[in-house]
Amino acid sequence: MKSPCKKGYCFQSSGEMKFSEECGVFGGVTNKYPVAPFIQQGLFMLQHRGQESAGICVGDKDLFIYKNKGLVMEVLSDRIINKIRGRIGIGHVRYSTQGGSDTTHAQPYAVNYLGEKVAVAHNGNVKTAVDMRKKLEKQGEVFLTTADTEMLLKKVIKELHKLPSTWTFEEVGQVLTENFTGGAWSILFFVPGKIFAYRDPLGYRPLCLCKSQEGIFISSEDTSFQILEKEFVYHIKPGEGVEISKDGYEIKRFAPERPSRKCVFEHIYFARPDSNVFDRNVYMSRVELGKKCAAENPVEADIIVPVMDSGFAPALGYSQQSGLPLHMGLMRNRWVGRTFILPEQQMRRISVRRKLTPIKEVVKDKRVVVMDDSIVRGTTSREIVRLLRDAGAKEVHFRSASPKIVNTCQWGVDIPTKKELIANKYDAICGVRDFIEADSLAYLSMEGLKEIFGQDGWCYSCLLGDCEKEENECTDKCAKLLDPACA
Ligand code: SF4
Repeated sequence: MKSPCKKGYCFQSSGEMKFSEECGVFGGVTNKYPVAPFIQQGLFMLQHRGQESAGICVGDKDLFIYKNKGLVMEVLSDRIINKIRGRIGIGHVRYSTQGGSDTTHAQPYAVNYLGEKVAVAHNGNVKTAVDMRKKLEKQGEVFLTTADTEMLLKKVIKELHKLPSTWTFEEVGQVLTENFTGGAWSILFFVPGKIFAYRDPLGYRPLCLCKSQEGIFISSEDTSFQILEKEFVYHIKPGEGVEISKDGYEIKRFAPERPSRKCVFEHIYFARPDSNVFDRNVYMSRVELGKKCAAENPVEADIIVPVMDSGFAPALGYSQQSGLPLHMGLMRNRWVGRTFILPEQQMRRISVRRKLTPIKEVVKDKRVVVMDDSIVRGTTSREIVRLLRDAGAKEVHFRSASPKIVNTCQWGVDIPTKKELIANKYDAICGVRDFIEADSLAYLSMEGLKEIFGQDGWCYSCLLGDCEKEENECTDKCAKLLDPACA
């Protein structure tokens, strides 16, 4: 299938099926100025949520769509943005995991239906996508992409089968609830003259609203609103949404309240530290993770070094709890993408050394504790340990601010297959420790994590795996650190 993109105007074509995405959405209705520059800046603040493609869709009734591969300020350059008129629009940044990362799957998705245009921007993952798609195909539906987002939009169109300008917030919400509950969707619909925004009834992904002097805006994270003259910010609850038009906005419940499953990884890794996600500040959460990890896993050492950026706040917490001085022993090159969200394994390895540089004068002859937000495949951690040893560190003790990742994610976060996860490759922690070539290794415990966030209302699935017992067995056998069995 040839590339669908001509000068950034994208007509979607097929590729392999997408199942997981970690993305960011931003939309709004302005009072008098064009909305495009606000969407550009809002998406720029969400760049950490997706670096493969960016897109915008603006129009009061008709629709102008522009999207392409690349970072926000490359795709949505000032030259493009300044040409876009209209006061209503939505935008998207995307990171894909499976099936390539071509322009085809950039969002927002837009279709013509009964002479009107409707578009959608989605953060999350609908795990029933494959079955639903097969069913729709059997009924004669044609798909131009393989993403769950297109399937979701087509399902809404099929169920409502009337002019998009006559759709109501409640009708769209009902279709979503009846067909996609169990999936993760913080999603924006552009229908003529309006934006409908929804957060799924289990609330996996964040979504928040801002009323400002410039207009009404909606975003994956409230850090985007820092560019605005804010009047107030509201965090949309699970099963709630908002309808926005030039006449104002209305927050509405479209599905009953039920026990939520907020993604704890938003706090551990994904969201920006200056965001407030699920009623908690992300930076403060990460400091707590580090403190708890230090209390559970002390070690004789000279300094603590963070793996920037998401390891910084936990390292600070570790330092505060342990009394070890915090040093920037690893400098980060800010112009290299985050390693966890680069699609190719090999690229990930190479990028560690492009991204992190040890400061010899800081680590030489020191017993170093190095703190990262998590350990996924272990290859990045091993490169970091090697970097520190090459720079003269006497000992390297690795600490993870999250418990072991033992399961993949079905709700939109790019976690590799269970087989690829380093914690599944070894029965005991000492096996992982040896793989990453550290002198010691310790994770925050599940109990510690739950003491910080609470027992209920959170999704911990990737950390629990199929069986929580596995964690305890390993902990007992390995005693986390210097158990003689591991020596
Ligand atoms: S499985 Fe993990 S990454 Fe996925 S939603 Fe749950 S906590 Fe988040």
